[in-house]
Amino acid sequence: MKFNDLNLSDPITRSLKDQGYEKPTPIQTEVIPAILNKSDVMAAAQTGTGKTAAFVLPILSMLSNPKNNYKGHQLRALILTPTRELAAQVRESVNTYSKYLSIRSTAVYGGARIHNQRLKLRKGVDVLVATPGRLLDLYNQKAVNFKNIELFVLDEADQMLDMGFIHDIKKIANLLPDRRQNLMFTATFSNPFRKLAKEMADKAIEISVTTDGEAGENIEHYCHPVDKSRKAELLIELIETQNWDQALVFTRTKHGADRLQKQLEKVEISAKAIHGNKTQNNRMKALDAFKNNRVKILVATDVAARGIDIKKMSQVINFDVPTVAKDYIHRIGRTGRGGDKGKAITLVSADEFRLLSDIEKLLGQKLERVEIEGFEPEHVVPAKEKQKPKNKKFHNRGGFKNRRRSRKG
Ligand code: AMP
Repeated sequence: MKFNDLNLSDPITRSLKDQGYEKPTPIQTEVIPAILNKSDVMAAAQTGTGKTAAFVLPILSMLSNPKNNYKGHQLRALILTPTRELAAQVRESVNTYSKYLSIRSTAVYGGARIHNQRLKLRKGVDVLVATPGRLLDLYNQKAVNFKNIELFVLDEADQMLDMGFIHDIKKIANLLPDRRQNLMFTATFSNPFRKLAKEMADKAIEISVTTDGEAGENIEHYCHPVDKSRKAELLIELIETQNWDQALVFTRTKHGADRLQKQLEKVEISAKAIHGNKTQNNRMKALDAFKNNRVKILVATDVAARGIDIKKMSQVINFDVPTVAKDYIHRIGRTGRGGDKGKAITLVSADEFRLLSDIEKLLGQKLERVEIEGFEPEHVVPAKEKQKPKNKKFHNRGGFKNRRRSRKG
């Protein structure tokens, strides 16, 4: 399949040529015709599969004909994203692919001045990318008018649900015209996602290029057992001995991300941290410095990093094992892209063993344990889960306690 077979308008195929894209990715091949056919679509695709272009390209193609009765504050396509970074990134894609079209677009999100955003919306835009909270603020200030919306997109819908945006999404959906096309993108078809999708568009075409437990086959996974107190030291050792040019490192908490950044800088390894407590400007700058190779290590929390497009990461490091197994898949989605080999390395301490087991169950594979000389843990990380005791009489302490309690009562 070639882009020319997809019936996208000419200015768009020209912009794709400029980007050097040779052919559509699998998600694009399936989603683009469905959108151009005016269907509602729900699609499961992770970051890195080309899913942004899968909805941006047909939307631009459909909006190529300017509307004559175009009025102030109005929009034609509304794209909701969970995070500010993702909103800015999707807007950038809209800009890239619409360079030969006269399409107006902007992005609005929290952490930036609302006044400037109001001004940009005054004359109306064709495509608005927004985070839900800021969009509702702007709506309440009468800075946007939803009357002419033709297309409504939820990007990373499952993350928006995880982040508690369900009420905002429903509120926004209720303000939109009934006659609209709904496009819903999610990393996984979780139950809460399905419920929302059914409410929004019960006849949506379902497209999936991934399954819940799937992780890129060209990714090599392994873990280093290590005592918790020595993780930073081990990370520094790996950075210094393994010739990584850059690495994306995940921590569980914002505080942990800041602490690790400081520890790296102390030994003159350039590092930046991104998480929810940093200002928007700060996060953008850090991301930019990393993308342009001015810093070696980007330390991120899960929420800050979801959906961010960082090209060709050779390795992703889990400094902490994620508490939700699915987050492992999201994290490592940033390595091994487009056929490149990637590494997913997890530093695991004994107390994280159960979380590691959950990930192994989801992946359907065991992560190889590789001990690093000089860092062998004092608190041993088991190779596999202990068998559950068969003979309850000798092992079921809870049962014994309960029996005693009932006898007393
Ligand atoms: P996404 O999954 O939307 O985050 O996209 C991941 C990356 O793939 C982005 O950097 C896009 O520029 C790139 N991309 C999207 N479509 C194509 C394509 N058909 N061929 C090559 N790269 C693409």
